[in-house]
Parts: sequence; structure tokens; C-alpha cells
Amino acid sequence: MSTLFTKIINKEIPADIVYEDDICLAFRDINPQAPVHLLIIPKKEIVSIDTLTDDDKDILGHIMVTTAKIAKQEGLDENGYRVVTNIGVNGGQSVFHLHFHLLGGRKLTWPPG
Ligand code: 5GP
Repeated sequence: MSTLFTKIINKEIPADIVYEDDICLAFRDINPQAPVHLLIIPKKEIVSIDTLTDDDKDILGHIMVTTAKIAKQEGLDENGYRVVTNIGVNGGQSVFHLHFHLLGGRKLTWPPG
């Protein structure tokens, strides 16, 4: 089932897009939890890590490499950053289209709540 992220991919609702290619899209989170808070998503409608198949390996590899490039572009590579994906209700997922949070620009605490 499509989510609002599909509408962002299709430019039906606005987002502050920082990177786009055929496979993925990165845009600023509407409710940032750090000075830099981006969401990196596949254009393919995948619900979460939990629903990945072998066919998605190239997409995921591409997203991880691209995430590192975007982190550098945002100036986060020197001091470090966090990449996290929430899965399902207990994981804290609220939008059921796979997304990786890229958080940085401050010292992040661990463990998360
Ligand atoms: P989740 O809780 O599913 O891991 O993360 C969903 C994220 O999407 C949240 O951090 C939330 O702030 C963000 N978000 C929800 N709706 C929108 C929207 O319309 N635009 C943008 N840019 N981010 C959104």
C-alpha cells in the first residue's frame, strides 16, 4: 500500500530533497531530531527491512553507499553520524515505506529510548 513517501517521490507533495537518482531519494525530515536529519528511501515501495527479498540487494547496497556520500555532502563524516531504520510498531516505525534516518550535527546518545 502506498504511503505519503510515494507522494513525495512523485512530487505530489513537497519535500526538501537533497539527493535523487533512479533508485533512491533523500530529503529533510519534517520534524528534525538533530541539526541534520535526512530520510533516505528507495523509490520502490518496500515496507521495511522485514519485507526485503533477494531482489532488493542491489537497491539496499546502493542506498547505503549513497547515504555515506550524502553524509559527506552534509559535512558529517568528520565527527560521525547515525543511520537508523525503524521496523514495525515496536521499532517505532510510523511511515510504512522503508526509510533510513541519517542523523548528525550533534553528539547523539545511546541507547535510543
Ligand atoms: P519513522 O517513525 O517511520 O521511523 O519515521 C518517519 C519519519 O518521517 C519521521 O521522522 C517523520 O518526522 C517523517 N515525516 C512524516 N511525514 C513527513 C512529511 O510529510 N515530510 C517529511 N519530510 N518527513 C515526514
